[in-house]
Amino acid sequence: MKVEIISIFPRMFDETFHSGMIGQAIKKNLMVIKALDLRDFTNDKHRTVDDRPFGGGQGMVLKAGPLFRAVEFCREEEQTSPHIVLLSPQGCRFDQAKAKELSLKARLILICGRYEGIDQRVADHLTDEEISIGDYVLSGGELAAAVVVDAVSRLIPGVVGRSESVLEESFMDGLLDYPHYTRPAEFRGWRAPDVLLSGDHEQIREWRRRQALLQTRCRRPDLLTSATTNSEEKEDESG
Ligand code: SAM
Repeated sequence: MKVEIISIFPRMFDETFHSGMIGQAIKKNLMVIKALDLRDFTNDKHRTVDDRPFGGGQGMVLKAGPLFRAVEFCREEEQTSPHIVLLSPQGCRFDQAKAKELSLKARLILICGRYEGIDQRVADHLTDEEISIGDYVLSGGELAAAVVVDAVSRLIPGVVGRSESVLEESFMDGLLDYPHYTRPAEFRGWRAPDVLLSGDHEQIREWRRRQALLQTRCRRPDLLTSATTNSEEKEDESG
């Protein structure tokens, strides 16, 4: 997958994408991530990316021109058609289902707003969708873009070492994850559940499923109805 991020602070991504799992994915050529500086697409000597809002009011607005030119530059560079996302608190709420959907795209362009936001014509005529990472306002789209890229990249085959570990994570089955333990078996008087030390894989599988249901019922009961329905449907399909 190729991801291009358009931002006035492209250096914010230097460390984020060069260490850990995403850094490895880039080294293995599973992902290409480029951060473009919006100021490179301005055409005045001050490299102006923003202006005062029509109608008055607080703050500055990112101009449409540099954003359109940045996206057009990306489009001309390569034939694969990009899916263009604007990070915005007004967008659809990002979740694991959206991460799965985006992980199937060959190419993403993520546009990061700043200041009061961006000229509405960018949202109306340049982007395919707007995504919000939650009901709060960040000072820019960069952290939101990093969240989206991280969650999406985990779902690209080969990025996470063992693909089964991704399938067992929270939300993948509509449930929260089960609890995890590692050595020592007893720590400060707290013992790891015996079943996990038993070596009985069938019992371990059942215990984990039950724990995932319990965690979800306690912490996120809203997820439970759809998870139960989904697994019943899967059982029906497999006969
Ligand atoms: N005036 C805008 C509003 O009230 O909707 C907020 C602008 S915010 C200060 C600047 C930029 O940060 C936005 O254009 C967007 O790119 C990004 N941003 C802020 N909160 C976000 C969120 N929850 N999800 C995704 N992007 C966000």
